Amino acid sequence: MAPVDRDADGRRGLPPVRPDLVALTGYHSAQVEVEVRLNTNESPLPPPPEWYEALLAGLGAIEFNRYPDREVTELRSALADLHDVRPEQVFCANGSNEVLQSLLLAYGGPARTAALFEPTYTLHRHIARVTGTEVVAGARAADFALDLVEVARVLSAADPVITFLCSPNNPTGRADPIADVEAVLAMAPSLLVVDEAYGQFAPWSSLEILSGRGPGAERTAVVRTFSKTWSMAGARLGYLVADPEVVRACEMVALPYHLDAAKQLAGCLALRFVDAMEARVAMLTEERGRIAASLAGLPVETWPSDANFILFRPLQKEARDVWTDLLEASVLVRDCSQWPGLTGCLRVTVGLPGENDRFLAALSESLI
Ligand code: PMP
Repeated sequence: MAPVDRDADGRRGLPPVRPDLVALTGYHSAQVEVEVRLNTNESPLPPPPEWYEALLAGLGAIEFNRYPDREVTELRSALADLHDVRPEQVFCANGSNEVLQSLLLAYGGPARTAALFEPTYTLHRHIARVTGTEVVAGARAADFALDLVEVARVLSAADPVITFLCSPNNPTGRADPIADVEAVLAMAPSLLVVDEAYGQFAPWSSLEILSGRGPGAERTAVVRTFSKTWSMAGARLGYLVADPEVVRACEMVALPYHLDAAKQLAGCLALRFVDAMEARVAMLTEERGRIAASLAGLPVETWPSDANFILFRPLQKEARDVWTDLLEASVLVRDCSQWPGLTGCLRVTVGLPGENDRFLAALSESLI
């Protein structure tokens, strides 16, 4: 560490922050008060009233003076049933971001590399860097599909411990075809992590690789979250499904009792309402189609989406100006226009029909 001035008592005050962190800029979407919030891909609807009732009843039975179940037995077993795997294949954490962090703490770190293909979810890079893991980034193709020649080039040069995919990919929207995921798995030298935060919107899932137990299944981890389709972003709950050895590795770096009792209960109860979740997904998918059809009539470039958001690029006006016009109309979308590979792009989350109408009206007003 560089020499630091000391005061008369020999103290040197707060230590400087790790130098490798200083260069990292945070990943934060604006949290401003607006009437129509379409910037963070949450569900516009809360969980069903029966879920709240069951949660309130269950909270009363929690022994809050005791530590929670460290093994997260009930929730892992309910998730295992949902995905037709064994509970030893499930690891839960405080949001899927913490799942990603656990994977990187367990397998990444100094002198180890993670590979990813941009544009993609920016936290893969960010969390890797925070854990001291080197990041090697390849580029997706111009239409944001995976470029398998580029994937081969990056993976053979970097020999990463973890290869990240995000499917459907945030913020571009498309799910990678399962054949592409399998091709990446075949090329990846080690662990493949498929972030499926929006998995229920997609026509297929990499969970099929795990259930098929085909080649590479033991090197595949699929990450999911309760934040989107389960309408529980406020609860901070995510999980992975993988080989038991991956789960044990994540458990090694998790803090004791990291998943509180109320959250474990909230997750278990959510899984009783699969039909309601699927109905929300169906409603949002229909609305996504309606937004896409309207965008087709406006001077914007758009990309097809298998998720609950749509990426678009205004063609005749600066993205930042459009973003500001929308904000003035009390509609908040995500400004991705400065992100690598996404120059001039904005991303809108699919909301309720009335919210989407407000967005489309404000966008037309700004563009025409
Ligand atoms: N992965 C992806 C692709 C996401 O878009 C998000 C949320 N923005 C997350 C993971 C993190 O979700 P959470 O931590 O709320 O589970």
